[in-house]
Amino acid sequence: MADCLFCRIARKDIPAKIVYEDQQVVAFEDINPQAPAHALVVPKVHFATFNDVGAEDEALLGHMMVVAARVAKDKGLHGEGYRLVGNCQESAGQSVFHIHLHLLCGRRFAWPPG
Ligand code: AMP
Ligand code: ZN
Repeated sequence: MADCLFCRIARKDIPAKIVYEDQQVVAFEDINPQAPAHALVVPKVHFATFNDVGAEDEALLGHMMVVAARVAKDKGLHGEGYRLVGNCQESAGQSVFHIHLHLLCGRRFAWPPG
């Protein structure tokens, strides 16, 4: 989508600190980190929310998780544990309506989440 923030980052129209990229996804540092390391894994195709993906997108969604684990490993933080978060809709905290996984690592995390 032309004016979507994460589509624009994926197209390099808007700069971001990219930590991983391939044909399907881009991962970049969150501009407002909630942990010592906080990256977002974003598919290059636009889906507004996780409600908009289907069975045909299973491989892409799995790839997003594999990439998140790889980014944690690249940061040397995978051994400590980390959290993957996908917010769906505003009530769950979604503020950018292009699906993404948050990779949070480098500290302890409480459960249940807020
Ligand atoms: P969510 O609230 O789950 O939709 O997550 C959106 C995330 O995008 C938030 O953690 C924001 O800090 C982050 N964010 C917003 N704009 C940018 C940007 N230009 N570059 C990197 N991260 C951003
Ligand atoms: Zn988009």
